[in-house]
Amino acid sequence: MRLPPPYTWHHESGHCVLAYLRGVAIKPPGIGVYANSGKDAYGEPDEAGICHLAGISPDFGPITLRDLATDIAISMAGPVAGHIYLVSSGLGMRSWETMADEWGARYDRRSLSQDELCAFSSALAWFCDLRRTLRYLSAIRSATEHILRAHWPTVQNLANYLGVQRSLSADEVTSFIQLSEAGTSAKSGQGPAPSDL
Ligand SMILES: [Zn+2]
Repeated sequence: MRLPPPYTWHHESGHCVLAYLRGVAIKPPGIGVYANSGKDAYGEPDEAGICHLAGISPDFGPITLRDLATDIAISMAGPVAGHIYLVSSGLGMRSWETMADEWGARYDRRSLSQDELCAFSSALAWFCDLRRTLRYLSAIRSATEHILRAHWPTVQNLANYLGVQRSLSADEVTSFIQLSEAGTSAKSGQGPAPSDL
């Protein structure tokens, strides 16, 4: 299944909104989307995206384990936002396992994305204590989905803006989220109804 471009817009916006809410800065050059080469086979989206965050992606600095739960939550926020978009648009349901494919699809690159940090951490922990790991990741994922649904208007606004602009600077993203949060703070709980993941 090829995923429509808005999937990627919501995916990158999910990373940004959760990072903003957890006090992690969006870094220059910001975020962007571009046509996917289509070389990957794992249900890749029609458009690929990139999101630069302070202290998380090894592309732009060392991984710090200062707050692993926060890093994992921000990593999960991309696929989770994409999932909420697909379900709320009636375009289908991606399972937890399908999201794992997304994390595993780009292992041949020399650097890790923030999503891959999540996959690596879960794989590492998998060999240590599976049940404890799954409880840990499941709890973070539930919290991530809850937060994104509570701030869904902001995710949607940013996603649509990104789809039109194609790239946004770090300052533009931060300002946009600030403005959107100010405009929707009085209307919490506007997100689509929770799914039974
Ligand atoms: Zn991502």
